[in-house]
Amino acid sequence: MPTLVTPVSAAAAAAPTASHATTTAASTSTAVSPANLLFNVDLFLISLLLAALLLVLPRLVNRYRYLAQWDGLFLRHEDLPSSIPFPSALSRSNTLVNPEPLTREKSMNEKEAALGHSKSISRSKSSGHARTHSRTHSRTHNRQLSRHRLPPVAPTPAYIMPAFGTDPFAAQTNVYDNDYATSETHADLARNPSSASSHALLLRSNTATTVSSLNRPRGKIPDHMPQLLTLVPYLWTMMRTVPTFPITYARSLLYLTYVVALLYAGLYKSNPFTDPVRAGWVAVSQIPFVILFAVKNSFLGAIGGWGYEMLNHFHQFAGRFFVLAVNAHALGYIYSWTAGGSFISHLKSPTMLAGFVGLLATDVLLVFSFRLVRERAYTFFKTMHIIGVIALFAGVYVHSASTRPYLYAAVVLLLFSLVLRGIKSKVATAQLYPIPALKATRIEVRGINAGWRAGMHVRVRVLGGAHGSPGMGVRGWESHPFTIANVSKNPNGTGLVLIVKAAGDWTNRLYDLARTAAAAGYSEKQVDAETQGPASVKMMIEGPYGGPGHAMLNSFSGILLVAGGSGITFALAAAEELIQTVRAGKSRVRHARIVWSVPDASNLVPMLPTFAAMLAGASSTRTALHIDVFYTRASADRAPQLTLPPGLTLTPGRPPMPKLLNATLDGASALFRGGRERHGGQLSGLFVGVCGPESLGDEVGKAVSAIGQDRRKRIGGIELHKEIFGW
Ligand SMILES: Cc1cc2nc3c(=O)[nH]c(=O)nc-3n(C[C@H](O)[C@H](O)[C@H](O)COP(=O)(O)OP(=O)(O)OC[C@H]3O[C@@H](n4cnc5c(N)ncnc54)[C@H](O)[C@@H]3O)c2cc1C
Repeated sequence: MPTLVTPVSAAAAAAPTASHATTTAASTSTAVSPANLLFNVDLFLISLLLAALLLVLPRLVNRYRYLAQWDGLFLRHEDLPSSIPFPSALSRSNTLVNPEPLTREKSMNEKEAALGHSKSISRSKSSGHARTHSRTHSRTHNRQLSRHRLPPVAPTPAYIMPAFGTDPFAAQTNVYDNDYATSETHADLARNPSSASSHALLLRSNTATTVSSLNRPRGKIPDHMPQLLTLVPYLWTMMRTVPTFPITYARSLLYLTYVVALLYAGLYKSNPFTDPVRAGWVAVSQIPFVILFAVKNSFLGAIGGWGYEMLNHFHQFAGRFFVLAVNAHALGYIYSWTAGGSFISHLKSPTMLAGFVGLLATDVLLVFSFRLVRERAYTFFKTMHIIGVIALFAGVYVHSASTRPYLYAAVVLLLFSLVLRGIKSKVATAQLYPIPALKATRIEVRGINAGWRAGMHVRVRVLGGAHGSPGMGVRGWESHPFTIANVSKNPNGTGLVLIVKAAGDWTNRLYDLARTAAAAGYSEKQVDAETQGPASVKMMIEGPYGGPGHAMLNSFSGILLVAGGSGITFALAAAEELIQTVRAGKSRVRHARIVWSVPDASNLVPMLPTFAAMLAGASSTRTALHIDVFYTRASADRAPQLTLPPGLTLTPGRPPMPKLLNATLDGASALFRGGRERHGGQLSGLFVGVCGPESLGDEVGKAVSAIGQDRRKRIGGIELHKEIFGW
């Protein structure tokens, strides 16, 4: 680090470079040692980072008091205690809506599973509780059904109608046995082995308990530790407000502080036109920061609870400032050499030539990282970034020996992250299932079933085909990020689940692979306990990354999850985790709402069983769950009516965010008087999670900012977490 460079030695070391500048340059910079100045400015920036870490310290300590919240470091496989059979049929998702049904013979596992199901159904049927239950609810249930006309979708999967009414609090007065699913439900499940069945079974198996006992907190309910800024609602609103350009005041303030610090370092007792060496020092001293904000794993992210995708904004900003400083440094010299007629002779010097390599690499890094390139050719952008960084480091290393400590610091940060990336990478077999109604692929990795929290994502590469299925060739090796769509330690045997929308080249190829194999059927050889599925591939899965950081979802009074398209993955995992913790008595959440915006109403069809099972799972607890689906593309030809379970709505148009936010706030505080619950704790805030495109994130951000101070205070603060698909 720069401590190694004393002012004297730094000045001496910088001398060869400076000597190439004009004599005026030397005279203006004698008073200040650039090495010393930049070292101090860097110390200032590091202190700012430490102060930011101090602000999150209470939340960090609070989170790590709960063992479950330690999860989310490394993916792994655990032998889960399972009270349910693990039939292969359960892994076949009901989200799999094939254009043509698969025609292969059932495996033994599946036959046994079906048998097991029928047995449990008959047990259910004979249960007096279950019968009473069905009778009690059938009338209310029928009244509450809402009907919607949907465009034709073939084939429409049968779905499960949860037997409980919509009022989650009504269940408090009823004592049923744990079979909250009715006998009809079980019959449906057996006919239609699905993800819904796995959801339902997950919910059951996780909670061998009675409904009445569900209403007694049995587990360790996490204490809520709010974000410090949410305690000052006025400041929070101001900081989260998005002014004319698309960044919040909070981020603008951080950027401004950074710019002022670096302008001070670059201009203090120095004229940039006559002293270009200073800009060079400013540039090199920022390399460790640019790298710190770019790497996938850093101490900063781990302690702060900030995902790399969150820190990436600072990487982009610091990176642009770095490019500016490098160019100012180079142009100053080029100008003075050209004016003095010594440009060509300078080019012959190896150190100067190395400087030019560094300059070229810097500009390549900038040009090929514009949003346009990232969006159109992400892999090209990434390749150019890697080549650019190597060339830049080599150039700077040869160009100026005195600045090498900064390079060493950056290399240490890079190596640390790379080693952790290696440790966080697992190779496993994955099954691919096409979901034509969503034009998406469902990926199941059964070899990995634990080690993440809701909202986290993994980066995947397809290394090759498995069990006779072709892979995606070399193109498959590209790493792509996807949010995990289910809860960790899910005993239903699907392992880690991803839902991948066919959005571009890589994802389309994956979808085609899943679809082709599904349409062609698959050989008996492939049907064994490990590999049921139309297409199997070897995947490298790296992660988990991102997620809600130190926020513990089950410590809030209310949760609003807003998803756009394939962003529903976050909501699915969060809802599963919520139901799991609610039923285990480890949650403060009283009201949860999922808002899903999709282009077409038919997109709901493959998710219906999953949503129905979730609503059924939540209906026997004192946590209200609502799912509101909005479709933006109205279709002319309307077709068969679709029955929606209570708690699920389907509405045309864009989601009215302010209205939905207010409804969630009302719902979350309904049980509380004067900030306290009759039999429980205090109002502990609202968590708003948004997952999907950037525009959706901005829309939700604006709606949250518009909530008045009093409302915000009463609920105990509103926290916003964005999981945006792209940066
Ligand atoms: C944190 C995160 C979580 C995501 N979760 C999901 C999910 O659960 N389900 C889902 O369907 N999609 C998700 N996405 C989006 C998904 O990663 C892209 O759709 C996918 O990588 C597109 O690759 P492609 O080659 O098919 O398309 P392309 O045409 O190459 O790219 C389409 C878009 O995806 C972006 N993109 C492409 N490759 C990458 C990459 N390696 N890293 C980041 N962005 C890339 C591009 O900038 C472009 O905007 C997520 C993205 C991020 C950043």
